[in-house]
Amino acid sequence: MSGGSFPGSSKDKVNGAGKALNTHDLDGHDLPPSPAPSTPRNGGRKYALATELVYTESSDQYNAASVPIYQSATFKQTSATGGGMEYDYTRSGNPTRTHLERHLAKIMNAERALVVSSGMGALDVITRLLRPGDEVVTGDDLYGGTNRLLKYLSTHGGIVVHHVDTTDPETLRGVVNNKTAMVLLETPTNPLIKIVDIPSIASIAHAANPAAVVAVDNTMLSPLLQNPLDLGADIVYESGTKYLSGHHDLMAGVIAINDSALGEKLYFTINASGCGLSPFDSWLLLRGIKTLGVRMEKQQTNAMRIATFLESHGFKVRYPGLKSHPQYDLHWSMARGAGAVLSFETGDVNVSERIVESARLWAISVSFGCVNSLISMPCRMSHASIDAKTRAERALPEDIIRLCVGIEDPEDLIDDLSRALVQAGAVNITPEGFQALKINDSAEASS
Ligand SMILES: *Cc1c(COP(=O)(O)O)cnc(C)c1O
Repeated sequence: MSGGSFPGSSKDKVNGAGKALNTHDLDGHDLPPSPAPSTPRNGGRKYALATELVYTESSDQYNAASVPIYQSATFKQTSATGGGMEYDYTRSGNPTRTHLERHLAKIMNAERALVVSSGMGALDVITRLLRPGDEVVTGDDLYGGTNRLLKYLSTHGGIVVHHVDTTDPETLRGVVNNKTAMVLLETPTNPLIKIVDIPSIASIAHAANPAAVVAVDNTMLSPLLQNPLDLGADIVYESGTKYLSGHHDLMAGVIAINDSALGEKLYFTINASGCGLSPFDSWLLLRGIKTLGVRMEKQQTNAMRIATFLESHGFKVRYPGLKSHPQYDLHWSMARGAGAVLSFETGDVNVSERIVESARLWAISVSFGCVNSLISMPCRMSHASIDAKTRAERALPEDIIRLCVGIEDPEDLIDDLSRALVQAGAVNITPEGFQALKINDSAEASS
C-alpha cells in the first residue's frame, strides 16, 4: 500500500492508509502515516518494541526506504498570507525532525515526543517550565551536567533546589510541599547505580502538589528497558547521544510527554529558543534507533559477564543485574533489563588510575551507550564539575571506576580487564587465580 502524501506534495491526494487514522498531529500537521502510528491504532495486536524500532513507513513521492533529510531552513508558501503549508521554517518544524519525533513517541509509549540538540538541551527546555521561587527536589547522585544546570538556576534563576537521597521515598516526603514545582529523578543513578522508586515518588510528589511535574532522566536504560511515563512520571527525557544513537556520532536530546498542554509549553520553548534537532542529526538518530534492540541486548549480556567476573574476584561491584544489588527487586519491578553501565571500587585511587590507563580495548572516555566499551573514573572526568567537598558529602568514592560495556567479544573484554588489573597491581595472584587486593568496607570476597 503506497498511499499517502508527504508534506509538500498535493494535499488533496487521498491518503488510503490514513483514512483509519487521525492524520493531524498535535501541531496540526497533516502527515502521512509516516512513521506509521502502526500500533496501537491499527486495531490489531500491538507490535513488540523490537519491531516498532525498525518499522517506519516513509511515503514520499519516490517511496524512499530511508526517511529523506529535508536539509532546508525554509519552505515555500502557496499564498501571500503564508497559510496553508505544513512547514515554513525549520526552527519551528522540519519533516525529518517530525518523522523522528513521531517514531520516538511510538517507542516511548508517549502522546508526543520532541527532539532537541542535546540531553542537556532537553533538561534546559524542561526547567524553563519553572519560575523564580519554585522548588525542585532532586537526587544527590546526579549526572554532572544536570547538577551544573540546577546550580546555575539556583544562583541565577531564583529556583530553590533540594538534593536528597531519592533512594528513600520517605526522605523525599519530608521535603516536598505545595511549592514543589518539579521532582527530577535519575534511575539507575550514575556512577553509584542507585535505584529510585519512580511510582512511589510520583505519588508522593503529586499528593504534595498536584501540579508538580515529575521528570525522569531515562538515559541509563533507554526506552527499550524502561518507560517512566508508564510508572507515573509526567515527563521523560533522555540524552539521544547515548543508547538511542549508539555510535557517538551525534548529540541529541529527547523529551516525551502524555499531557498535550505540557507538550505545547515545551514545544513553545524549543521554537522560541531554537534548540530543535537539525535535519541531518534527526536522520542519523532515526538510523541509530533501528539497532537499539540488538545493541542493547548484546551490551547487557556482556555487562552481566563482566559484573559477575569482577564480583567473583572480590571487587565491590554495583550493577542491578547482580542479585547482590541492594535494590535488585525494586529495579526489576520497573525495568525490563539491567542496562550496560556498572561501576566497581578498588579501594585505592592510584590503583584505579593505573587500571584505567592500562586497559587497551576499553577506551578512556566520558559518556556511554556506544557500541564500543569505555572505562572512566567519574570523579576525575564526567563528575569533575561537582566539587570534591560535595562529592564527599554524597559519598561518591574517589576510586570508583565506571565501565560502559559495548558489543565486543566478552572474552576479549575480560582478558583486557584482567591484564589491566594485574598490571595495575589491583589483585593478588594465587595458584587458584587472582583476588582483589584491597577489599573495602562492605565488600566481602564472594568466592
Ligand atoms: C549524557 C547524559 C546527559 C546529558 O546529555 P548530553 O546529550 O550529553 O547533553 C544527561 N543525563 C544523563 C544520565 C547522561 O548520561
